[in-house]
Amino acid sequence: MYGRPTVLRRWNEQAVFGRLLREGPATRAQLAVRTGLSAPTVGKVAEALIEAGLVEECDADAVGSTGSPAGASANAKPSLIVGRPGRMLRLSCATPRVIVVQLGVRHTRLAALPVAGAAEDRWDTTFETSTRPSLWSKRLTSAAETLSIDAPWAVMVSVPGVVDEAGGRVLLSPNLHWSAKVDVPAIVAEACPRWNVPVLLVQEIRALALGEQAMEPASENFLLVDFGEGVGSAAVIGGRLYAGPLPLSGELGHTPTPGNERPCGCGGVGCLETLVSRGGLVQTFGQRMDIASPSWTALAAHVKHAGVEPWLTEALDHAASVIAGAMNVLGVGELVMTGSLMELGDPVTDALSEAVARRAMWSRFGQIACRWSSRHWSAGLIAAAIDRVLMPVDGQRIRLSGQETSA
Ligand SMILES: [Zn+2]
Repeated sequence: MYGRPTVLRRWNEQAVFGRLLREGPATRAQLAVRTGLSAPTVGKVAEALIEAGLVEECDADAVGSTGSPAGASANAKPSLIVGRPGRMLRLSCATPRVIVVQLGVRHTRLAALPVAGAAEDRWDTTFETSTRPSLWSKRLTSAAETLSIDAPWAVMVSVPGVVDEAGGRVLLSPNLHWSAKVDVPAIVAEACPRWNVPVLLVQEIRALALGEQAMEPASENFLLVDFGEGVGSAAVIGGRLYAGPLPLSGELGHTPTPGNERPCGCGGVGCLETLVSRGGLVQTFGQRMDIASPSWTALAAHVKHAGVEPWLTEALDHAASVIAGAMNVLGVGELVMTGSLMELGDPVTDALSEAVARRAMWSRFGQIACRWSSRHWSAGLIAAAIDRVLMPVDGQRIRLSGQETSA
């Protein structure tokens, strides 16, 4: 149990930090108005957050006028003068503090990011994901040596598949089987002993939903569906990432579709993702066009020329039915879609958006909002780091390296 002053201090820090996170840079006076805290309290909290390295001061003219908080603060220059009244506060963007790792089916990418994150994904280094964990670990060691970060606070690893985030385990990974047979956080910690900080797993699709939310803070209720090597989804409800009672949610890619006999990496048969993942679409394209070794590039070129042919409409309709079902259950009217389908062009993405809108029940009462977005891994992994390590809602902020703690 924490004493009352500790709890109060933590709430106040949450309130001030949360405003800066969601609304971008602000003066202490503005923060006092927005949080309802007294000016002296905001002053004390601000000093503690600055001392902790989570927040920094900046000039008003160094702050971008538009865009997301992440974008505005990432583009601003660090301040040189400290403590002058009336200056703006923002999330720290001068010093890299969090290492983000995207363990993808084909590539692994790394970046060292400040608390403010990055508006767009910019990776410091990339390597090919190995089919063996031992080789992946060796490649990770080499890649880690190229990162310029002195004292990281956390390592956030995005992994595809079904992930028990609290337990730090991959339960099932239909497209990257080895990750479910090993202790991924332990492999990362052993491969990079110099980091010596907590290694936390984030389910890939949840990282993408958190990233979308960080970039579009006004969107508080949406379903995000990503199309890539697999098909996954995650929902944000009431501004929070939705979590079911099982360590499994949003797995709409593994919903069997009628008439589909393809085996899936999950062990099932006829899953949606065997039709509309990259590999699934390429397979159908090859079968329909009678091409011995079809490729994604050939498919994209064909679709640009031939448009949305019946076989593709059929696959998109299956996806639309499953997505509309999820929206009906969750009660959300906003759909964000990301991933490789966008590479096939507007006729394809429009066809899927329209097919979902026709099927989702809310269309009979109001309007379904469908949009296509870039993936925002960096923003999502930083958001996860803030939630779980830097500013956890239901736990004490960790003592970060090189940081004094105020009594
Ligand atoms: Zn499956």
